Amino acid sequence: MLESLKKKVFEANILLPKYGLVTFTWGNVSEYDPETKLFVIKPSGVSYETMKPEDMVVMDLEGNRVEGELNPSSDTPTHLEIYKAWGDKVKGVVHTHSSYATSFAQAGRGIPCYGTTHADYFYGEIPCVRCLTKDEIEDAYEENTGHLIVNEFAAMSKDPVAVPAVLCKNHGVFAWGKDSMDAVHNSVVTEEVAKMALRCELINPDVKPAPQELQDKHYYRKHGANAYYGQKGSN
Ligand code: 13P
Repeated sequence: MLESLKKKVFEANILLPKYGLVTFTWGNVSEYDPETKLFVIKPSGVSYETMKPEDMVVMDLEGNRVEGELNPSSDTPTHLEIYKAWGDKVKGVVHTHSSYATSFAQAGRGIPCYGTTHADYFYGEIPCVRCLTKDEIEDAYEENTGHLIVNEFAAMSKDPVAVPAVLCKNHGVFAWGKDSMDAVHNSVVTEEVAKMALRCELINPDVKPAPQELQDKHYYRKHGANAYYGQKGSN
């Protein structure tokens, strides 16, 4: 079942160490198939060096393992809540502890938009959502992480398509996209803009976000009805 999706999700997972986003097994990628309403995710704690496409786990949106011998990623309930809320527009989810972005998360800070690299991909700051409460941590931690992300985006009126990543305070990064490869792409960009933002603040502690008109120009020339970046049909 979903053999080609398992291969794709496997390949997307393998990109995480390739781009330096994970150490050991600190990350996972999934992709949702809207036709079957199933998603494919990395197995928990399995090394990227030995992992095979057939190790991928197929899950339904009730949290049942539909196929696969191995336990799914421990973060599966977070992926699931994101698909349940945003599955009409988000079909790939990535979780990492990538170093620079996680440093912002541990500090409890979002990543401000200091330049056009950031604005090309994210409309405004990449937010950092609060740490979970004691009760939320002790009961259904990963599911509550998903609820928090979805609820905070609604409370901030942020469109998950326009802001395809979030930092979870004291934890790490979730990024998403139109499929698993796009979600990996957005997690690479999150790490790069976090690295640049930190250096930017070191070089100039008084740095301010880029002017709104410059952020708008870069975001909207790549996204939306009047986008003109790249080649026709390629974005
Ligand atoms: P899994 O190996 O269960 O996917 O966990 C990875 C991780 O990053 C935990 O936060």
